[in-house]
Amino acid sequence: MNPARSDAYDVLVVGAGFAGAIMAERAASQLGRRVLVVDRRPYVGGNAHDRLDEAGIRVHDHGPHLFHTNAQHVVEYLSRFTDWRPYEHRVLAAVDGKLVPIPINLDTVNRLYGLDLDAQGMEAWLAQRAEPVAETRTSEDVVVGRVGRELYEKFFRGYTRKLWARDPSELAASVAGRIPTRTNRDDRYFTDSHQALPADGYTPMFERMLDHPLIDVALSTHFDDVRGALRWGHLVWTGPIDDFYDRRYGPLPYRSLRFEWETVPTPGGALLQPVAQVNVPDESIPYTRTVEYRHISGQDAEVSTITREYPSDEGDPFYPVPAPENRELYHRYAALAEADPDVTFVGRLARYQYLNMDQVTAQALVTFERVRARLAQAHAGAAGPFHPTARS
Ligand SMILES: Cc1cc2nc3c(=O)[nH]c(=O)nc-3n(C[C@H](O)[C@H](O)[C@H](O)COP(=O)(O)OP(=O)(O)OC[C@H]3O[C@@H](n4cnc5c(N)ncnc54)[C@H](O)[C@@H]3O)c2cc1C
Repeated sequence: MNPARSDAYDVLVVGAGFAGAIMAERAASQLGRRVLVVDRRPYVGGNAHDRLDEAGIRVHDHGPHLFHTNAQHVVEYLSRFTDWRPYEHRVLAAVDGKLVPIPINLDTVNRLYGLDLDAQGMEAWLAQRAEPVAETRTSEDVVVGRVGRELYEKFFRGYTRKLWARDPSELAASVAGRIPTRTNRDDRYFTDSHQALPADGYTPMFERMLDHPLIDVALSTHFDDVRGALRWGHLVWTGPIDDFYDRRYGPLPYRSLRFEWETVPTPGGALLQPVAQVNVPDESIPYTRTVEYRHISGQDAEVSTITREYPSDEGDPFYPVPAPENRELYHRYAALAEADPDVTFVGRLARYQYLNMDQVTAQALVTFERVRARLAQAHAGAAGPFHPTARS
């Protein structure tokens, strides 16, 4: 990757995560444009950044990132920059002194209640417990309507209240709606056709995406550091949309996480927990989950690195809070963005929506086509070659 070498670029990309790296790669390789990518963090990859820790274990700095998708075009695009190592994520929940599968499946119910149900038996068991809900509006409605109040309280209520600092009855149905209930024994967290991790990590994949003679990358560089000093033709913004507009309507709320890291000797290569992720729904324990990275990296080692995640209002913006008033506030910012043809807003923070990595990839690839059209127009309108113009 090249450091910044000029004070004028065709495209300035703010953010070196999935959204920014893809837009930069496309603009350089498809349109032959000169691109500068800036990121305020000292590394590329955004929230998907990973690294080898002091003990040599590959860890994800911003929580475990498991790549899974049904979108073949997304796999094909990313496969230009990485090989894949198959990985299926499994999660257990610590409930009533036992570790049982989540999403709830046949084994969850049988182990928790000492039963021996088959699929049909479980369907009947759930049907007896599910509470009729007149209109499914909230996360509580979804879960109580599906599995009844007891399982809702054991698995969802405390976990959700810790993660969001809101009761599930105050959160949109989509939050809990993402987690299925199964009457079979499938204990995979995801069921997508492609479940794999970049073979040598996310960060090397991003480095290859950005390794192009027309792309410069300035790390530890905030947009404010360059806005007065550079000229550019088009701006791609992947940071929080309210930051771009100086929060003029007020801040969009996010939840964040604080990570507590521990590296523990594991003689003989033992693992600390049976699966990569253990959820802790108990509200009296302040963290939501523990993650053991060797399950994810597939490494053999005499040590193991584990994190505990403590939800917080402070820290990096991670999860847009899915409540109607926040959506309304976002739409006020989105209206400003629509009236600004020289800036493209793309990615999870710029669109204020929960998006997985494959969804951000798909969104960036579609959005790039709009930028292509916009840059072609700007080029056709100019007297000579495209001239970068400062926005501010
Ligand atoms: C805890 C957690 C776990 C997740 N797990 C998964 C998972 O298992 N599977 C999955 O598919 N997805 C997962 N995701 C989602 C995944 O992180 C996102 O889909 C993806 O990272 C979004 O990419 P992005 O480019 O939109 O945003 P980001 O990765 O957030 O990148 C935006 C970048 O912009 C930079 N930036 C912002 N403002 C400025 C500024 N003013 N100046 C300079 N730089 C700026 C930031 O530093 C950041 O690096 C998870 C997310 C979190 C928070």
